[in-house]
Amino acid sequence: MDTSYFSKFYKKTRLEKIQALLDANILTEEDKQFLTQAPLLSDELANSMVENQLTQYALPLGVALNLMVDGKEYAVPMVTEEPSVIAAASSAAKTIAQAGGFDTTSTKRRMIGQVALTAVPDTTHAQKQLKLHKKDVLNKANQAHPSIVKRGGGADEVMVRFIEATEKSPEFLVVHVYIDVQEAMGANIVNTMMEAIAPYLEMLTGGKVLMGILSNYATECLATAACRIPVDLLKREGLSGETVRDRLIEAAQFAYADPYRAVTHNKGIMNGIDAVVLASGNDWRAIEAGAHAYAARSGQYRALSNWEKADNGDLLGSLTLPMPIGFVGGSITIHPTAQFSQRLLSVKNAKELESVIVSVGLGQNFAALKALVTEGIQKGHMGLQAKSLAISAGATDHWIELVADELKKAPHMNLETAKTLLNKIKNK
Ligand code: NDP
Repeated sequence: MDTSYFSKFYKKTRLEKIQALLDANILTEEDKQFLTQAPLLSDELANSMVENQLTQYALPLGVALNLMVDGKEYAVPMVTEEPSVIAAASSAAKTIAQAGGFDTTSTKRRMIGQVALTAVPDTTHAQKQLKLHKKDVLNKANQAHPSIVKRGGGADEVMVRFIEATEKSPEFLVVHVYIDVQEAMGANIVNTMMEAIAPYLEMLTGGKVLMGILSNYATECLATAACRIPVDLLKREGLSGETVRDRLIEAAQFAYADPYRAVTHNKGIMNGIDAVVLASGNDWRAIEAGAHAYAARSGQYRALSNWEKADNGDLLGSLTLPMPIGFVGGSITIHPTAQFSQRLLSVKNAKELESVIVSVGLGQNFAALKALVTEGIQKGHMGLQAKSLAISAGATDHWIELVADELKKAPHMNLETAKTLLNKIKNK
């Protein structure tokens, strides 16, 4: 990737940005055409995606630059309504690229399907039966979706969990089936399999099936990103790199210890993750739900990321979370902008996409923590906040920039000040 085209990228107009990406060979002429026409969904497609479709809801798609993951550079599409997220992702990615970039690892891509049984007359006998007939359970699951087996995946493990009765719930015998979903997110594949094995499980256990469904707690599909940042890259005006490192580590420890902080810390991580998941056409509710459950796996809700000091004084960061995204299936293959995102990212498969997403999450976390323990989070937010206020006050065209510039200097940046400034500037 030739990054010389990206100098002062944020200052370019939208068309200049598209041209720079074209010149850097990240976009093709076809992509340019796609981006410069209004990339709305056709009525037919929108109608087939949801029920009772009335219109479409637009959100901006931006690009974060400089991301280096496992030695490869990426231009990352991000869809979000929140100002500063993409700027922070790019800036963190740039610092971390200077330090060698992110290294990632991931588990096999296996989803968990659950069948919950109630009123099992003898749970010990039922568990024995399930163990004895494990192969038959797997065969029946695979027969329900033979194409995933042909692709090299399919159901490959059965686990049984017993959930004791409480004051508010009866006991449950829960059969978990692990399914390699290959390049798909797999919800429909898994749900089909779980419904198909339900009658057989009733027969084996003598219980009643309550439901068969995928679990979004995808603990068999984890992705990890790690980075190592020398303190030289951390220093800020008036603060040494060591001080920034130590304060950042303390901020992460605070989020480990306090759930009130951990939620906001993790929300910052999800600012980046959701934006890429959404741009890639994936189910961000699934990723959100799994991430927060994983954050609470110890019994207390904690920070998803970890920051510590290396023996040589470098700052070490890591982030692990369930990442059951798909590269095909769902709306990914039919949504033209999701397809564009895949081209822009130039990822080849779901695992590579996982690596990019988890790295963006760790970078986003680094940017937020660094800002919090140095100049504070508001400074970075001010620019775009000022523009939004100027627009809310009624500014259009070149007035937006003029009002925003004055607002940034004003003692109180709010709508009232924006309106007063707009009036003053217009009547000059
Ligand atoms: P699909 O139902 O679209 O299934 C994936 C499809 O991709 C399969 O039909 C498969 O075809 C095809 N495919 C092509 N190439 C491959 C490959 N290399 N590896 C795997 N599959 C391939 O999507 P998913 O099952 O992934 O389900 C995702 C959707 O389900 C999302 O939209 C999600 O929002 C939704 N959903 C989520 C739920 C949840 O999270 N709890 C619940 C229900 C739905 P073939 O059959 O020929 O193998």
